Amino acid sequence: MGTAHPAKFVQMTGAVDVDVAIVGYGPVGQALAAMLGKAGHRVAVFERWPNLYPLSRACVVDHEAMRTLQGIGAAEEFSSYTVPSKGEYIWLNAEGQVLYHFKYDPRGISGWPSRSLMYQPDLEQVLDRTATALPNVKVHMGWQVAGLRQTYDGYELTAQAGAADAGGLSRPSSQTQRVTARRVVGADGANSFVRQAMGIELVDLGFRADWLVVDFQLNDPAKVLDMPEAGQICDPARPVTVMRHLGLRHARWEMMLLPGEDPSAMTRPEAVWPLLERWVGPSDGVIERAAVYTFKSAIAQTWSKGAVSLAGDAAHLMPPFLGQGLCSGLRDALGLSWRLDLILRGIAGEDLLESYEVERKAHVAGVIDRAVALGRVVCITNPEEAARRDVAILGGQAPPLPLFPKLAAGLLGHSPGMDGVVGELSFQGRVSNGAHAGRFDDVVGKGWQILTLDEPLAPSLSDRQRSVLKRIGARMVAFGAAGEPVQDIDGDYRAYMDALGVRLLIIRPDFYVFGAAKAVSEGKFLIDQLEAGLKLVGESAAAADPIQ
Ligand SMILES: Cc1cc2nc3c(=O)[nH]c(=O)nc-3n(C[C@H](O)[C@H](O)[C@H](O)COP(=O)(O)OP(=O)(O)OC[C@H]3O[C@@H](n4cnc5c(N)ncnc54)[C@H](O)[C@@H]3O)c2cc1C
Repeated sequence: MGTAHPAKFVQMTGAVDVDVAIVGYGPVGQALAAMLGKAGHRVAVFERWPNLYPLSRACVVDHEAMRTLQGIGAAEEFSSYTVPSKGEYIWLNAEGQVLYHFKYDPRGISGWPSRSLMYQPDLEQVLDRTATALPNVKVHMGWQVAGLRQTYDGYELTAQAGAADAGGLSRPSSQTQRVTARRVVGADGANSFVRQAMGIELVDLGFRADWLVVDFQLNDPAKVLDMPEAGQICDPARPVTVMRHLGLRHARWEMMLLPGEDPSAMTRPEAVWPLLERWVGPSDGVIERAAVYTFKSAIAQTWSKGAVSLAGDAAHLMPPFLGQGLCSGLRDALGLSWRLDLILRGIAGEDLLESYEVERKAHVAGVIDRAVALGRVVCITNPEEAARRDVAILGGQAPPLPLFPKLAAGLLGHSPGMDGVVGELSFQGRVSNGAHAGRFDDVVGKGWQILTLDEPLAPSLSDRQRSVLKRIGARMVAFGAAGEPVQDIDGDYRAYMDALGVRLLIIRPDFYVFGAAKAVSEGKFLIDQLEAGLKLVGESAAAADPIQ
């Protein structure tokens, strides 16, 4: 393994080869490559395995993840491989009593189903097609990054061909290649080389449990199985997760290993079939994979160091009971990509990345808290302890579960009375502009969005403020204002903003509300806060061609 030497510079001549080098081509590295590639940057990705990983880990993504995929043009195709959830997640005890029944509006606020039940290889194939279609994205499969060192211009990565041969997947080779990059992102998973090479600690948050994960390919994908669409069976004799739809063709069971059980013995067919017999047998299909995973909770101490950042499982790990590991990784990719885009284009300073760590680390820590709290409910194999749990939950005596977090710190505006709105995920509805109708981000455009009701913001702004919005590519829509071509087809935007009690919303490229105001005229104060928060650099304030 190579090491990083942040303090020692290796002098390079000429410009770097690429703008961003991404280590790891799992779903997070794939999505990030597509985001940066679509923004016009030169991207090189290195993946140690010669082929995409053929088996599923994640089985559900949320509406926010789908809006993220929409932004790179991957959501429509991917959605054709998913099953929209009916919006229920049921937790039963051994006696079949309902401990928790999580219900959510199946429509989701981001313009996509609240939960999409999926098979991860389908997602990775769609993301791969999306990224590799871009001429400025070069994906190097079968190259393991083993060296990372700082240069005057950025970083030099050394990759070895065939280094993944230890796993039996590719032919060993002594070939190496080097690439220099202005920025590096470690999207290289739980055992991240980049994280270790940068000397970044992975802080263990204490959760650990071994579970057998069984993916089952059904002969008849429409077969009715006696189980909820998504659920947990909190039976101390064997806690089990059931997922009826893992995409279009599969079902998933996850079974906790009991104390003393041998993980390798538990993956053998003679051990797995008896565990499945309550639901399926050999005549119903095939066991595609049975593997034991150790579910853990952990978070990287630092998310960006110099020009190197972490994203996805390289930065955080959580047990899967909330279905949020990958969703959180996609949040990282989007939160990192819009910042890197501004930095690489010379619009924002390096210190914009400080808010990446502040925001994402706090948010994912809250997600991990909730996932771990759920894990502590289900991962009980002691019957007395399970009985006490059941009495407490059914009697309403159990401590409340941590709430799903919003963005509470970082690049957020402040205006009186708006704390409940700022940092929340925003709504995406259907709009039209002339003959073009569809989801807002497709019709109007993604990125910074400023929504107002009945009057536009632009006339109340200074030239300087309009210049700021132009530089960051903000899009403004004044629903209901004279001359506004964009129409709120279903009236949902007006209902949404009325319910929040706002006339103005400033929405970030990652869909979170930066700022809100009861009056459109207050928007100018928020634009000043935005300019300061974005650490804009270069170009003088009064642009000759301000936004209209
Ligand atoms: C059983 C289970 C169920 C889950 N269910 C859900 C769910 O329902 N919803 C959800 O959101 N999440 C879920 N998750 C979590 C989700 O699967 C992960 O968070 C997600 O796959 C992480 O993606 P990633 O791209 O960050 O990392 P990975 O998918 O691990 O990709 C990292 C890549 O980096 C490569 N790599 C590593 N080192 C190097 C190197 N030195 N050089 C080059 N390449 C390298 C690896 O080969 C790998 O391809 C689940 C996880 C498990 C285990």
